[in-house]
Amino acid sequence: MIVVMRPYATREEIQRVENRLQELGFNTHPIYGEVKTVIGAIGDKSRIEPFSLSNLPGVEAIVPILKPYKLVGRELKKEPSVVDVGGGVRFGGEELVVIAGPCAIEGEEQIYQVARAVKAAGAKVLRGGAFKPRSSPYSFQGLQEEGLKLLYQVKKDLGMQVITEVVDTRDVELVSRYSDILQIGARNMQNFRLLSECGKTKKPVLLKRGLSSTIEEWLMAAEYVMTEGDSRVILCERGIRTFETATRNTMDINAIPVVKELSHLPIIADPSHGTGNWKYVNATARAFIAAGADGLIIEVHPDPEHAASDGPQSLKPEVFDELMQVLKPIAQAIGRKL
Ligand code: PEP
Ligand code: MN
Repeated sequence: MIVVMRPYATREEIQRVENRLQELGFNTHPIYGEVKTVIGAIGDKSRIEPFSLSNLPGVEAIVPILKPYKLVGRELKKEPSVVDVGGGVRFGGEELVVIAGPCAIEGEEQIYQVARAVKAAGAKVLRGGAFKPRSSPYSFQGLQEEGLKLLYQVKKDLGMQVITEVVDTRDVELVSRYSDILQIGARNMQNFRLLSECGKTKKPVLLKRGLSSTIEEWLMAAEYVMTEGDSRVILCERGIRTFETATRNTMDINAIPVVKELSHLPIIADPSHGTGNWKYVNATARAFIAAGADGLIIEVHPDPEHAASDGPQSLKPEVFDELMQVLKPIAQAIGRKL
């Protein structure tokens, strides 16, 4: 980091900052100017809060040089990562990956019906919530282990990879037994214990962006998963809270090029939760693919009017199929395949 001293900081002030940095184990490299002095500090920042140095007399600013995230950033790994989730499905390669399925698994007939339809339309991964993080404790909370078993049964029968959300550290082991990918939801993006426990499983993790999280906070959350070793993370932009109330959330399309520049991890988009309205899903899905997203996650339900959760934003299978057709030429136009 660099410590920028105020204009005309005194020699004593500069010396005091240097002494403090050296006490903390940093090597200091001051560059004295007529008006302004800056001090380069090289060392391990993990034991201090660098911004506490700004309280010292004469200090104007602390400027970090390296990004706070190391494993997810491009500084240490330049090439994009391709995350292999098994079954020949890879996120971040030339081929786009579409995840589709109901918000919640409601029963055997429903999950088979959706799975067959989305597979026929070209989805490679089946989604289905078994533990649902609902805003109200009185809303449907998911079929839990029974739902996981159904998901696993469909996976085996139809030969699809599956993803489901894990909402609590106590369920990580159970969910890992049934699911190819662990989904960490928006509400849990900064549940640091959950991030670490999911990382320890070494399963691929789909990390949704928090409802009110900055891109940096989101990448730091991914860093928690990745510090557990050989962990694979796929990021998912699912809309953030803004002053706008016409849609459930506001999808941040900027996140795609920004994350691509800052991180080597693949990133997909969730226009279902991003808009909260099935009528807007296809338009935003097209835009996110055009912007460079590595795939999509879309809620599909055979009978959205009677869905146990998120019916208003769920596509009917035929509308999902239309979307898949429309995405193909868009993918091709930007050098991707679907
Ligand atoms: C979901 O995918 O069903 C879900 C709850 O998403 P999010 O965490 O983005 O709200
Ligand atoms: Mn949902």
